[in-house]
Amino acid sequence: MIPGAFAYHRPKTVSEAAALLATLGEDARALAGGHSLIPMMKLRMALPQHLVDLGGIIDLKGVRHDGDRIIIGAMTTQTELIASDLLAAQIPILREAALLIADPQVRSCGTLGGNVANGDPGNDMPAVMLTLGASYDVIGAAGQRSIAARDFYQGAYFTALEAGELLTQITIPIPADGHGYAYEKLKRKIGDYATAAAAVVLTMQDGRVATCAIGLTNVGETALLAGAAAEITLGTSLDDATLARAANAAEAITSPATDGRGSAAYRTKMAGEMVKRALRRAATRI
Ligand SMILES: Cc1cc2nc3c(=O)[nH]c(=O)nc-3n(C[C@H](O)[C@H](O)[C@H](O)COP(=O)(O)OP(=O)(O)OC[C@H]3O[C@@H](n4cnc5c(N)ncnc54)[C@H](O)[C@@H]3O)c2cc1C
Repeated sequence: MIPGAFAYHRPKTVSEAAALLATLGEDARALAGGHSLIPMMKLRMALPQHLVDLGGIIDLKGVRHDGDRIIIGAMTTQTELIASDLLAAQIPILREAALLIADPQVRSCGTLGGNVANGDPGNDMPAVMLTLGASYDVIGAAGQRSIAARDFYQGAYFTALEAGELLTQITIPIPADGHGYAYEKLKRKIGDYATAAAAVVLTMQDGRVATCAIGLTNVGETALLAGAAAEITLGTSLDDATLARAANAAEAITSPATDGRGSAAYRTKMAGEMVKRALRRAATRI
């Protein structure tokens, strides 16, 4: 449980951090809240020779309104997401999901950027970002680019982020006024990662679903966008038959491992159940 040797860097600006990461490349890792990276280093599953601590970069923090989007700095902590009045008013699913991450100690250090960049299928925020149609702004040796969350996750701990790239901010289109939302997470105990979880964002017109997006956590190699399940709900009043069909369609795209949280078959069924619960609760919030 002792990490390997590494050099520690504490840049003060985004450009300094980006230059360091770009120069050091694969030998370096960004350090955000450290709540995923440090345990992996202690287990020697990660052996960076350089840590670039982002904690001193003020420009990477904060939540701001920009026209029809909300922009969140990568170093904004999960606690800060929960406390944000702007998010509570405009994208309340973020608060709901953040409150289900770990415990207050972890949330006070863990950052949104670290959670989405980590590539762990157990992290809660990636599925929420897929559901919201978010994109990630990154900077590297080749300059800046924006990557849709829906293109970002390629395998467990394998993302579109290249070695040496820094995630600076997360951009989220503001969902329609009066949208319904829910993040339903089944976990064994307080502070646990999901056995299975589902995010739903929807709108309804005259009692029928007009738009719907559904994301799934920890039931595959990556967070999953359940497109077919969402489509099944369109034009319906979310009656029981529709909920069952949507749950089946969501279950069909899962491939969870059998692990301490349950068998693959159980976790698949729970993904469907979380979809049903999230759809029902989202509809009550319209
Ligand atoms: C006991 C415990 C329980 C937990 N339970 C949950 C849970 O239920 N749900 C959940 O979602 N998470 C959970 N976590 C993880 C927690 O939310 C982490 O904080 C989060 O996954 C990573 O965020 P971080 O800021 O700590 O990132 P770090 O651990 O510092 O970094 C994680 C990875 O992302 C990279 N990275 C970080 N920031 C950037 C950036 N700006 N640009 C490029 N790369 C970057 C790092 O290099 C590293 O590879 C738990 C953690 C613990 C210790």
